[in-house]
Amino acid sequence: MRTPLIAGNWKMNKTLDEAMAFARYLGENPVREGVDTLLCAPAPLLYPLADALTGTGVAVGAQNMHYEAQGAFTGEISAAMINDTGASYVILGHSERRQLFAETDASVNKKTICALKAGITPILCCGESLEEREEGRTADVIKAQVVNGLLGIAEADVTGVVIAYEPIWAIGTGKTASSADANEVCAAIRAIIADLYSQEAADALRILYGGSVNADTIDGLMAETDIDGALVGGASLDPASFHRLTTF
Ligand code: 13P
Repeated sequence: MRTPLIAGNWKMNKTLDEAMAFARYLGENPVREGVDTLLCAPAPLLYPLADALTGTGVAVGAQNMHYEAQGAFTGEISAAMINDTGASYVILGHSERRQLFAETDASVNKKTICALKAGITPILCCGESLEEREEGRTADVIKAQVVNGLLGIAEADVTGVVIAYEPIWAIGTGKTASSADANEVCAAIRAIIADLYSQEAADALRILYGGSVNADTIDGLMAETDIDGALVGGASLDPASFHRLTTF
């Protein structure tokens, strides 16, 4: 059985005060047991947030990292630094990083390998643009991102990866993919994993959907067979709204 994962991606939002207030809310309003719950915060908030969430069962993740251990990479953070903060997940290859910061399948692959070695759970993102969808290229685009993102990763390690399917046209637009459409792509990703590794690996690996997920859509998405959770942007910024998503 795959444990559901509800992950918030705060993107470049929240001050320290706001993050602390969020943590207090989750301290007073415990999240549901049996569901993994995660907040991916900006780097300066990782340590204080992880500290403030101790005992709540809510994990903390970073939104990016570098694949080198250390060195002259101004503005970057390493896996060891993330580990030091108490964070245990990292989002890799988000479409905003691919589009705005020239992230490639090759760099995402190196980062995924690096995260696994450091004991940090990578959330490997994939997703097609509206143009690619309209041209009927969704399956090919997703396959290339997943296959290239996982290059060189052994079967024993791949089940420690979480894959997030986030169609670019659904991010921040209010246009959620229908539950059935989202499930179809998540099932296709699972079939790619079965093909690359084994059916056992495919059955164990968690696949999330992301893109305008909110209180109105979470229940339908979570009822689908191949959607194991959600990666949520806008609706994760308010504590009550985030909490609601964990109660699907
Ligand atoms: P929204 O939920 O705001 O559409 O963002 C989705 C996303 O990009 C999560 O990583």
